[in-house]
Amino acid sequence: MLAAPETQRFLAAVRAGKAVHTYIVEGEEGFPGSVMARVAACALNCTAVDLGRRPCFSCSSCRRFLNGTHEDLHVLATTKKLIPVDDVRGLIAELLSSANSARCKIAIIEQAEKMNENGQNCLLKTLEEPHGNTAFFLVTENAEALLPTVRSRARILHAPRLEDETIRGLIRDGFPDAAEERVEAAVALADGAVLTAERFLSDETYAARVDTAARFLKLTEKSGTVGEAFALLNEHKSEASELLELCARLLYAERKKENEDPHSERTGRQIRNVAAFLSAADDLTRYANFNLTIDKLLITIYS
Ligand SMILES: [Zn+2]
Repeated sequence: MLAAPETQRFLAAVRAGKAVHTYIVEGEEGFPGSVMARVAACALNCTAVDLGRRPCFSCSSCRRFLNGTHEDLHVLATTKKLIPVDDVRGLIAELLSSANSARCKIAIIEQAEKMNENGQNCLLKTLEEPHGNTAFFLVTENAEALLPTVRSRARILHAPRLEDETIRGLIRDGFPDAAEERVEAAVALADGAVLTAERFLSDETYAARVDTAARFLKLTEKSGTVGEAFALLNEHKSEASELLELCARLLYAERKKENEDPHSERTGRQIRNVAAFLSAADDLTRYANFNLTIDKLLITIYS
């Protein structure tokens, strides 16, 4: 995971005492942009005597930053569509008032693009007058979605994707009781994003949603099932957008595994369907009419 040149440069800067105060960690959805931010937190606070070994991942400081229990780790994450500006203020107040035992307090904002302009401007004031011992990590899928004024004050780190074999190893360590079939399903679904695999194995609601998405995909492979396909989505209307995104993800994973001729008709159809799923999911998050969106989707994938 630490092989990416940018990560190596970051670690070299930390070891030389030249880390900056604000980083944007850009990586694909579910991928450890957040894991990478924690690795960086470890590096900034590791107590290993040998600088070259930092982060050691075994000292008490490293372990507490990794498992999220360090008192100087402040994480702002939300399951809502937006990060309210009050949450940003709350984070900053918390940083200013908390005592620290680590060399460097760490603030991580997950899905930082969820901050609206107000939220980002509020953060900006703090970034403009950085406190000597605080480092900010803004984790996002897309750095371009942040205000240019925020980007200009940060250095961008790109989080690398993990190989399937690495994810398999991490999952087997973390979930020793998981059945082989579940592990393989998790690896396929993750497609380089270990947090997605972990979520699949630890979050029952998410796993059930993945199963529903898989059922929907199976239905669409047969003809004459349009009515059933619509009924299934309608039954899960409140999470239809997430379901369709998962359909795209599963289909993409399946396609990769098949290793089929990239110019075949089947591949063409699969790519078209992935795009149709993503576009419908996107429409639904923007409150498009449910029936119209799903009709359009079904016409595309059944044609
Ligand atoms: Zn350490």
